[in-house]
Amino acid sequence: MSQYEVTLIPGDGIGLEVAPATQKVLEATGVSIHWDIVNAGMDEFKRSGNALPQEVLDSIKRTKVALKGPTNTPKDGSFSSINVLLRRIFKAAANVRPIHSFQIGHLIPEKKIDLVIFRENTEDSYVGEERLLYGGVDGQEIIGAESISRITVKACEYLFRAAFEYARRNGRKKVTAMHKGNILQMTHGKILLDAGAKVAKEYPDVNYEEVIADALFMKMILDANQFDVIATTNMFGDLLSDAAAGLVGGLGLAPGANIGKEFAIFEAVHGTAPDIAGQNKANPCALILSGALMLRHLGELEAAKKIERAVTDIVAAGRILTGDLARLTGVKPSSTTEMTDFICRLIRSY
Ligand code: ATP
Repeated sequence: MSQYEVTLIPGDGIGLEVAPATQKVLEATGVSIHWDIVNAGMDEFKRSGNALPQEVLDSIKRTKVALKGPTNTPKDGSFSSINVLLRRIFKAAANVRPIHSFQIGHLIPEKKIDLVIFRENTEDSYVGEERLLYGGVDGQEIIGAESISRITVKACEYLFRAAFEYARRNGRKKVTAMHKGNILQMTHGKILLDAGAKVAKEYPDVNYEEVIADALFMKMILDANQFDVIATTNMFGDLLSDAAAGLVGGLGLAPGANIGKEFAIFEAVHGTAPDIAGQNKANPCALILSGALMLRHLGELEAAKKIERAVTDIVAAGRILTGDLARLTGVKPSSTTEMTDFICRLIRSY
């Protein structure tokens, strides 16, 4: 059996709990992984003065695959978002966020939701080009600020190609471009939608539609199932994927992946959850499911399916649930480690 080398970045806050939990679960599948454990984020900044040490970059350059816990971004600007930097450095330009509904204990979803959001990962307002605007009598008064939202043909085409390719490989029927082309006539109306239409021609077996962002949000809340694969810009994708996670049980069950041509970084949608960090309360499933996406990426489909089945089963059984889910069903909350250990037992029993 081949051994994989994977970079593990535990990160900050609940990352220190859900990353080891995910390691345990991946180990339970029997897939052999050598973990190169390095760290980035606030804890690392406090320890070494560098939030993103060179050894993290060197490790990912070597392994090409990373599993990453959430990292804290300070509001005082002492360092930039590690997520944004990693996605940019490793040209992981497509952020993939599956949205899949679960039965949570006795709560059976009225309609099963099963869609995938592809979010462009490196551009848009995330280029980080903002400046204050000065005016007033002496020209020194801060009168506002502006932010650049830049998107390129290359990144948009990459986004759509990733979305269509995924649709074709996974038997999905339709790709929807989410846009605001009526207002943003150059960025969305021209660059984004031209890229969508161009790539769509290469995939005649997959349908393509364009839906304006505000209408799409409304349709998503009313009937998410009319969508299959949604492709959109960085900021819209950020908002949409958190909102969509809310439709299917919250952030504790929302995995994600950043995929580029050469490198892939797998991480949950949630952040560091400082309110529950260090208390053995965090739901490990979002990162565990991201680990399953990583196994799919490595070609270990059977192991990935076992993890997905175990998470589905434990959540549906409804007895061993961390607080975020236990609150929904009214059972006594279990700890991160209890939930993790039970998932491992299930995997070994299949
Ligand atoms: P950050 O600044 O790192 O983004 P945040 O608190 O603003 O942190 P999240 O970490 O995403 O954002 O948390 C939002 C809410 O969801 C918090 O109340 C948090 O406790 C909860 N939450 C997030 N992830 C999980 C998880 N894995 N398990 C349980 N609750 C979670």
